[in-house]
Amino acid sequence: MNTPVTRTPPAAALPKTIKTWRMERPWFKDKDGGRVTEGSIARADLPMPEPAPGEIVIEIAGCGVCHTDLGFYFEGVPTVNKPPLTLGHEISGAVVAGEPAWVGREVIVPAVLPCRSCWICKTGRGNRCLAQKMPGSSLGVYGGFSSHIVVPALDVCPVPKDRRIELAKLAVVADAVATPYQAAMRADLRPGDNVVVVGAAGGVGLYMTQLAKALGASCVVAVDVDGERLRRSLQYGADAALDAKGKSADDVRKEYGALLKSRGLPNYGWKIFEVSGTKGGQETSLALLGFVGTLVIVGFNLAKVEYGISRLMAFDAQIIGTWGCLPERYPAVLGLVLGGAVQVEPFVELRPMSSIVETFNEAHRIGSPQKRIVLTPDF
Ligand SMILES: [Zn+2]
Ligand SMILES: [Zn+2]
Repeated sequence: MNTPVTRTPPAAALPKTIKTWRMERPWFKDKDGGRVTEGSIARADLPMPEPAPGEIVIEIAGCGVCHTDLGFYFEGVPTVNKPPLTLGHEISGAVVAGEPAWVGREVIVPAVLPCRSCWICKTGRGNRCLAQKMPGSSLGVYGGFSSHIVVPALDVCPVPKDRRIELAKLAVVADAVATPYQAAMRADLRPGDNVVVVGAAGGVGLYMTQLAKALGASCVVAVDVDGERLRRSLQYGADAALDAKGKSADDVRKEYGALLKSRGLPNYGWKIFEVSGTKGGQETSLALLGFVGTLVIVGFNLAKVEYGISRLMAFDAQIIGTWGCLPERYPAVLGLVLGGAVQVEPFVELRPMSSIVETFNEAHRIGSPQKRIVLTPDF
């Protein structure tokens, strides 16, 4: 009997280094606002870490440029691990080493990786685990604007190969799509609910709007200050658009009241998602919150707003926060994207990673770019 010749496939040569675009230092402004020190992002090579049991090495296909990265680089928002470190937490790629069962698979890396052993994790709130790791902030010096990254296999979301959308573009699922999905879960969004999205035309808002509809919302009202993009949201989940440009929160509330009346909609029980992360958006959201309503804060900024919290008691209403997304929810999020219920392709632009400095500068200057930019490694 012939012994079949078994040939072990040559182990894909794992590079000895991770090539990366590292934030050497963020922009820095003196307390009095006087002296400004320019930030720096530069090419660096890091030794390839040996994956521990349970870990995988991912060859990165794409990493999205998130507002949070710009906050770290330009606005003095501190990363958990101090620079120099590589930013980027919106990652897709292919597994090239580590846990054998995963090698060869394509995956999305969740933006936050819970510890899975603390009280918060054990009670189902691991997206806000205090020991969580976030690539590009608290995963050592490692981030997505690199050739490779090492993460726990347990956390990643497998991407089926029979799909129409490029792996690099699916990087946006890691944060821009998953975060509003988690927000919808926090709000216990159910079929038939009525929803307002404040900041609906922005990078996260357009997914919040599409997700609300995909999850069965009855009426979705999109609010934003960008009239043109607001009209676009009517093709992507919104049933009505309310242009808040130049209007006070109270004016928007009156228009909203008139809209509900004209459409015969109830003035109670609305679920409001604040995704603009602006003071004006937050004030508008608070003004719209009504009886047995829910307000979920999805966007971030450092401003303080004033609100008579006794209204919550009178309204029997709630205001809740949301952070990241549980890794176990990613397959459901990806399913909505691959199934076409949530469109990402019209809103993603791929650029070579070597354009990182120009891209960061441009995104920071524009504030809210037309499309989310995903950088693809070109080392
Ligand atoms: Zn982000
Ligand atoms: Zn934990």
